Amino acid sequence: PLLDYYGAQSKLFTMPGVGHVLTIFNQLCAELDARKHDIQSVMHETRRFAPSEAFVVAAAVDAERLQALHRHAAEDHVGFWAAQARTHLTWQRMFDHALDDSRAPHYQWFSGGLINASYNCLDRHLDTRGEQVAITFETDDAQVIRYTYAELHRQVCQLGNALRSLGIGKGDRVVLYLPMGPQAVIAMQACARIGAVHSAVFGGFSADSLKDRIEDAGARLVITADAAPRGGKRVDLKGAVDKALSNGGCASVERVLVYQRMDGCPMHPQRDLRWQDLVPSQPTHCEPEWVDAGHPLFLLYTSGSTGKPKGVQHSTGGYLLGATVTMQWVFDLKPGDVFWCTADVGWITGHSYVAYGPLANGIEQVMFEGVPTYPDGERFWRMIAAHKVSIFYTAPTAIRALMRLGDELPARHDLSSLRLLGTVGEPINPEAWLWYHRVIGGGRCPIVDTWWQTETGAMMIAPVPGAMPIKPGSCTRPLPGICIDIVDEDGVPVTQIGRGGLLVVTKPWPSMLSTIWGNDARYAETYFGRFGNSVYVAGDGAQRDEDGDVWILGRIDDVLNVSGHRLGTMEVESALAAHPRVAEAAVVGRPHDIKGEAILAFVVVRGEREHAIASGLQRELCGWVAEQLGAIARPDEVRLVDGLPKTRSGKIMRRLLRSIGAGQHLTQDTSTLENPAILDQLRG
Ligand code: ATP
Ligand code: MG
Repeated sequence: PLLDYYGAQSKLFTMPGVGHVLTIFNQLCAELDARKHDIQSVMHETRRFAPSEAFVVAAAVDAERLQALHRHAAEDHVGFWAAQARTHLTWQRMFDHALDDSRAPHYQWFSGGLINASYNCLDRHLDTRGEQVAITFETDDAQVIRYTYAELHRQVCQLGNALRSLGIGKGDRVVLYLPMGPQAVIAMQACARIGAVHSAVFGGFSADSLKDRIEDAGARLVITADAAPRGGKRVDLKGAVDKALSNGGCASVERVLVYQRMDGCPMHPQRDLRWQDLVPSQPTHCEPEWVDAGHPLFLLYTSGSTGKPKGVQHSTGGYLLGATVTMQWVFDLKPGDVFWCTADVGWITGHSYVAYGPLANGIEQVMFEGVPTYPDGERFWRMIAAHKVSIFYTAPTAIRALMRLGDELPARHDLSSLRLLGTVGEPINPEAWLWYHRVIGGGRCPIVDTWWQTETGAMMIAPVPGAMPIKPGSCTRPLPGICIDIVDEDGVPVTQIGRGGLLVVTKPWPSMLSTIWGNDARYAETYFGRFGNSVYVAGDGAQRDEDGDVWILGRIDDVLNVSGHRLGTMEVESALAAHPRVAEAAVVGRPHDIKGEAILAFVVVRGEREHAIASGLQRELCGWVAEQLGAIARPDEVRLVDGLPKTRSGKIMRRLLRSIGAGQHLTQDTSTLENPAILDQLRG
């Protein structure tokens, strides 16, 4: 109301002195309001979708079973996880203590237990499904290569032996700078097999980013490829490694192992070895290194969309348990399923739901080297039909991009093999959700909107699709054994429906990060510094609706503060995306003398940008948002652009947009930008 009043009285501001008084008044209001420390919600999405009867009848986890799991976890949190670990993992020696919290917040899960992740992903399936397909790999140019469990096992053992022959062993760090494909999975599994700690760096990162990560990890070995085909282009990889290692950089690195994927590359005589020369002649038996459950399985540097990358460290036993059971619960896994997660192995999703989870569960999965728009926008749909994919898991950004191309493209393909769809990485706006549901899922496939983070290792808040109804834009409920809450800045639970707050996890869970590599203090400070050693602060804002379902509002750092009203970016973006001429939108706050922050929206339109500018779409969109959400959310400015700055995992770089909005010099690492040329347009 305050803002409405100002809007109506805006001519007051032209009078000398009045603007200043109002500024002070408003700042006071903002300050008072900010003491409430919560986030407001202006979203009104209430549609619900129940699973079909057929889906419920066949569900791996139905409502009754889910209730039993929740009940067990509520009665005995640690005992629940211990039972899961005994049932779903194969241990060389059973653990003595399910949870040791004596060094909290450094929680030790399953101490005393000895385990090997690669054994759990491969060896334990050999008797029953050695000849079953583990990976169906489709290359950029649509060649299909299949690996059975037995074949994958053989290649992992050979690489494990090759690594041992180079003197790599338990605890050594190995950086993987590899293209999306089976070799990345083989490399991760081979490291796990010998107790080495892998750290995958996404192939889109620059030489500088790679260097930072190699040095922070103190890696002895880098495994890379000469280059990778991606969308018909050649992406150089080895060149970036050479650059990272030049001039005395990355002094810890002794060897570089190069998988030749394309036409080869210059090799450094003492340092570089070709995978094809070293690996195929190795013995096919490789004794697994049995490690403590807490032994680091891998490091993964967070994407850096919010600052200096952190080496998130995951344990072997707890992490593997999370990746394994969440797949069963959320993806409703059944024999015969063909699972396809489109995430690159350089991201956490490519770890938990490509390299480990599907294999630990012994199912068949599809891996894809290319991009969704090459050679055309039908690539995903053609692949789903060709490989009879039954469970498809991708990111909202991909859905929005493909939705922009129209309904005719998916309609040309038989998508009837699909029975379940999933999303991860960002909040999904209801418009994109509904399109995904109707056009891709044929109205029959539930959508699992899964909230989790690099740090959480596995899905945390997500539907169990055969056991509950879903809503467009809500990730619904925490999974069994996951205790979450939404609190204000004093740590007091927010009870009012529709009020947002900080999303926290109030009990440790097995797949949580064990620390930040080499920096225990930063770990404790970043995640537990706010409310003590038992409350993990996720850094996201969230709210609950009247059914108790959770809605993620975006990152706390992205929350807008307009005249003291704290708004999640997600809601304004969803409102914009609901306009028929909008394909995608990102909003950020821009410093404003009176309101504190004003909303700046970057909008990608459907169709011609010039035409949209000429027809005054910007103004129309400002009014549209005000109409949808109220005057408080009216953007101050809308910039029509051809694309948004994103990390290669598809996340909008709002931090970068904020700097642009504030007219600041850019200090961010822009090396993962899909389209660096877009920066000029964004500056307006
Ligand atoms: P960095 O921490 O370096 O800034 P990042 O947070 O983007 O990078 P990830 O761990 O891959 O790296 O992403 C986790 C974040 O993604 C979550 O904190 C949340 O903001 C967002 N996210 C993931 N899944 C969902 C979802 N289903 N709904 C809403 N947001 C999601
Ligand atoms: Mg993060």
